[in-house]
Amino acid sequence: MRETDSIETLKGIGPKTKEFFQKAGIETVEDLLRYYPKRYEKMENPAPVMMVREGDTAVICASLAGPLSIRRGRNFHITAGTLADETGKIQVIWHHMPYMASTLKRGQSYIFRGKITKKGQAFLLVQPAVFDKEKYKELQKELQPVYPLVQGLTENMVKKAVKQALKLSDGSLEFLPGDIQKKYHLSELGYALEQIHFPKEEYDLHLARRRLVFEEFLLFILSVRQLKQKKEKVKTVYQLQKSENIKKFSENLGYDLTRAQKKVWQEIEADMRKDTAMARLVQGDVGSGKTVIAVMALLMAAENGYQGALMVPTEVLAKQHYESICSLFRKNGYSYQAVLLTGSTKAKEKKEIYRQIESGEAAIIVGTHALIQEKVCYKHLALAVTDEQHRFGVKQREELMEKGKSPHILVMSATPIPRTLAVILYGDLDISVIDELPAERLPIKNCVVDTTYRPKAYRFIQKEIEKGHQAYIICPMVEESENLEAENVIDYTEQLREELPEDISIAYLHGKMKAKEKNEIMERFVLGKIQILVSTTVVEVGVNVPNATVMMIENAERFGLAQLHQLRGRVGRGKDQSYCIMIRASDGRVVKERLEILNQSNDGFYIAGQDLKLRGPGDLFGIKQSGIMEFKIGDVFQDAKILQEANEAADQILIQDPDFLLKDHQKLKNKIKEYFFEGTSQLNL
Ligand code: ADP
Ligand code: MG
Repeated sequence: MRETDSIETLKGIGPKTKEFFQKAGIETVEDLLRYYPKRYEKMENPAPVMMVREGDTAVICASLAGPLSIRRGRNFHITAGTLADETGKIQVIWHHMPYMASTLKRGQSYIFRGKITKKGQAFLLVQPAVFDKEKYKELQKELQPVYPLVQGLTENMVKKAVKQALKLSDGSLEFLPGDIQKKYHLSELGYALEQIHFPKEEYDLHLARRRLVFEEFLLFILSVRQLKQKKEKVKTVYQLQKSENIKKFSENLGYDLTRAQKKVWQEIEADMRKDTAMARLVQGDVGSGKTVIAVMALLMAAENGYQGALMVPTEVLAKQHYESICSLFRKNGYSYQAVLLTGSTKAKEKKEIYRQIESGEAAIIVGTHALIQEKVCYKHLALAVTDEQHRFGVKQREELMEKGKSPHILVMSATPIPRTLAVILYGDLDISVIDELPAERLPIKNCVVDTTYRPKAYRFIQKEIEKGHQAYIICPMVEESENLEAENVIDYTEQLREELPEDISIAYLHGKMKAKEKNEIMERFVLGKIQILVSTTVVEVGVNVPNATVMMIENAERFGLAQLHQLRGRVGRGKDQSYCIMIRASDGRVVKERLEILNQSNDGFYIAGQDLKLRGPGDLFGIKQSGIMEFKIGDVFQDAKILQEANEAADQILIQDPDFLLKDHQKLKNKIKEYFFEGTSQLNL
């Protein structure tokens, strides 16, 4: 067997199972080996039922207190019942697990392990895993991997397949040059892969992770450096002229640009007037006003008779940007045509839009990943902007760029990374920073509270709504599956409707909804027709509804700080006082300390720094910082030191052998190529 073989070469994986793996992006044995656990669990000793608390991952040793009941419909299958031990009873529920009813025998006790939520006054054990008592004792001896799953794929399927793959693997995957491995004390790939899946001890896990993080950063850095080499030679035909209209446009916004916005705009304008292509990153905290700067740049392209494209990570955001651009243009009496192109644009409409892009009629093109599909041909793309860059790989940025003849590149990001790291991560870009928020903004008022505060929070939201404002409520992530997450949001919304007066309009949003539905909901929220939006983190990126003044986050402890900061950034975008209510369902010391950081500060840079200090490098069980560049295993903050080492190693390799001619560098060279092209398939928009 070779690692490049299809996973079908493994025993027990037939065509059907293969499909499930494919949904998770696993095609080959190597993909499987690199399907890293997202975290590890220690199997704790069972606790008495009476001791469980909301928010816990509880382990209990109990038996059925009565028969299980089953409810089923077209899209759901629910198995429910009651469990008991000597100390008490608890309700239990499973979704989409019809075999539970036949697996569990009355009168026999099992170990149940799952999350505790509250249903009215009672506790509810949701979707627990069930173990035989003896088997559980075995599991307690080692750290258990927890994999990201898709529907149809279970932890056990992954574990079994990985175990087989590890056995068959012959170590030929290693690609790091020996001297680099030695110098940076990196473990061998074979060992690292084995230990990342099934760590013997925490220390082995640490070594394994270090190696895998290092190689991921190294590949990233080396592929970015390839871009830089290209960039430096790039002349552009789009040497743009200054335009009076842009100045007018900026004076007609209804507010003054901040000093920082003006400074950044000057840098961009100067870049675009040169005969070499701009390649610039604009960093600015949430709400600092990056969009308007991007729009001015797009306008400059249009004013010069060319096209500008704006690519964003979600359809909701694309739609919103498109609409605000249209309304700004109308307000200023511009007749430039803007078009919106996303995955859900209808085929017929798409064709017409393609035509307009190709003929040059469309001057401003806004959209998602759809902008870089093969069929899209631009007449004269002078500027390519990507917003919320951390969601795109280097490759997507490159693809948009290749749609034009060396267009100017502008990248917008709210990711608060220190300059030293930014220089490494965005090695191919110049950096501008919008380091100030509009003056009229009142700082967001924060509070971190426990779940008993919930009724008060609802009343507070009700008052804000009476004042004409709107609110977001973010439901906790459900790690197990997107389906559960959706059900969770729907349940929550139903309960909320019962708690609040009927005339308050409440709607929900989740990742499983069709893009069209999502757009409609978002649109109605923008128009103020929906007053409370209950949502998963799909609203996290970029959405702008200045009239929303309350952000309430359930199970705040489950989110990374950076993500919480992004979520909070959805409010405080207008003149009115805004509030962020973080509900924590756990009162552990670390949880409190982490959330306290957010409570104390609204500054993204500060938060990122504090988060790092608190967790310390190498916190393997912590929540992964999401939202900060989509590395598979590395975490820019937590692994900042490894990032720096990888950067140093990249320098060393490029000085020694810039064209990768040495024998010891051949595998590395191939790996870089692979890495570079991988990004596209992972993006799922
Ligand atoms: P982000 O930097 O998070 O992308 P946006 O560009 O969406 O932020 O801007 C957030 C809000 O602030 C928008 O409603 C925008 O119109 C407004 N805004 C932008 N610049 C200013 C400014 N200089 N003064 C007042 N409001 C501004
Ligand atoms: Mg934005």
